[in-house]
Amino acid sequence: MAKTIFERIIDREVPADIVYEDEHILAFRDISPQAPIHILLIPKKHHARHVAVPLEDHSVFSQLLAAAQRVSRQLQLDKTGYRLVINNGPDGGETVPHLHLHLLGGRHLSWPPG
Ligand code: 5GP
Repeated sequence: MAKTIFERIIDREVPADIVYEDEHILAFRDISPQAPIHILLIPKKHHARHVAVPLEDHSVFSQLLAAAQRVSRQLQLDKTGYRLVINNGPDGGETVPHLHLHLLGGRHLSWPPG
């Protein structure tokens, strides 16, 4: 199966503005930011989306959330606040079939989302 754009970023075939990396997670700036700070956090292991992660791989959820906490501190969003979002499937607005967590901040975010 063809690689997604995110797998190509993991493999360094496509450049990205990387802000954080560890053994399991890569985080980089979204190419089309929806807030002054818009980071994508992705597992290096491919899962198509949230609902597709098998039980034996559920540790990826804590890895993503822990990395998001680190990045929020690194980018000084820990005091002002931020939002974490996973878009899953067509109704969720998912466009890239590789599990990813959006971290948005740097402005007040309204609710409910569109
Ligand atoms: P989704 O809509 O699937 O939740 O989010 C996919 C995100 O990936 C979008 O916010 C989109 O702007 C971002 N994106 C798509 N292609 C690229 C790319 O090549 N580089 C970066 N940095 N972000 C991308």
